[in-house]
Amino acid sequence: MKFWFRIPLWQRVVAALILGIIVGRIWGPDAESIKWIGDFFIASIKMLVVPLIFFSLVSGVTAIGDISKLGRVGGRALLLFVITGQIAVWLGLAMGTWLMPGSGVDRSRIAVSEFAQPEQISWTDRIIAIVPQSPVQVMAAVDVLPLIVFALLVGIGILMAKEQGDPVAKVFDSGAIIMQKVTIVVMELTPFGVFALMAWVAGTLGADALAALAKLVALNYAGCLIIIFVMYSAMIKFIARTSVIGFFRGIIDAIAVSYSTASSNATLPVTLRCTQRNLGVSASVSSFVVSLGATVNMNGTAMYLGLVTLFGAQVFGVELTWGQYFLISILGTLGAVGAAGIPGAGLIMMGMVFSAVGVPLETIGLVAGIDRIMDMMRTTTNVSGDAAVATTVASMTGELDRDELVSADDV
Ligand code: ASP
Repeated sequence: MKFWFRIPLWQRVVAALILGIIVGRIWGPDAESIKWIGDFFIASIKMLVVPLIFFSLVSGVTAIGDISKLGRVGGRALLLFVITGQIAVWLGLAMGTWLMPGSGVDRSRIAVSEFAQPEQISWTDRIIAIVPQSPVQVMAAVDVLPLIVFALLVGIGILMAKEQGDPVAKVFDSGAIIMQKVTIVVMELTPFGVFALMAWVAGTLGADALAALAKLVALNYAGCLIIIFVMYSAMIKFIARTSVIGFFRGIIDAIAVSYSTASSNATLPVTLRCTQRNLGVSASVSSFVVSLGATVNMNGTAMYLGLVTLFGAQVFGVELTWGQYFLISILGTLGAVGAAGIPGAGLIMMGMVFSAVGVPLETIGLVAGIDRIMDMMRTTTNVSGDAAVATTVASMTGELDRDELVSADDV
């Protein structure tokens, strides 16, 4: 038992991933019989979403201290979230148009699995849906966007109440810490969940189907790596004006955990620790920006939504106009904002983009089996982005301890 816990979690997860693929290939379609273990794991992560977002966002807002500082930090963070999100989704669109991942896919050789068809929602209803008409209902339905709005408002209310809000602020601080601990406990299930899911994927999808989708996977990885190493490096070097190598060294733990869990929310405690301890971002800026970013700032997901929409359009021969490209860019960014930081959230968001531009929803079934592998890289991109924005905002507002970041050598 001791031996098991002595191995770092991410190493156990990587081993489980490789073992899962081997077992799945040998076992074949019957590997589906252990898929419930993966579902159990995903259900356990979903359990965390509402309390984790609620407590950490409220405590993130109150950590800022006063309303005017909230405006300064929040405004800059949101601006960076939107700009990087747009660049990411256009990168996905450009790669999809140029390298055409869907053009070589032989549809007849891939089993199209069933997937719930999302209902069509009008623009105005979408906007109204952001308002949490009933906070309790929003929590019960795990509806992330209105939950974020509510959490931000509660945080602002606590700040406005000044001393009278302090006791409640403390409750939320404790709640956030408790939820981070609960997350660490749940994460111990990861190796088992990943093993079962990988065995199921490798056992049920044929080798030729995997090969047909390999190009999409490769492009997903390439796009994410470009975002991480080009966009974030540029942001750290030219806007935050600090050491790029120090930055990446400082977030290595967060990279490992995000890659293996495929969940920004599950990585949240580690991202917080890395940004504060290794990057020298002040506690108030990091708890606000990183907690908000874990659900709102998802550049890997935005890029992927652009890429996969073109993939689906190419597989099913749908011609897209420029106007539709713009629509994808907006919905892709919104989808990334609305996706919860849990495994597979990007997959759920595809339906919204697809139905808006007439890409068949069968595409979701087509890519569902390999989503996990892509999700791991998307999540790493999302989490690195949260750290990059936190560092940049801290630098802009004079709350970055540069000595700490450069000395991240010993991490
Ligand atoms: N799993 C991702 C995250 O937690 C979201 C996604 O599915 O793209 O950041």
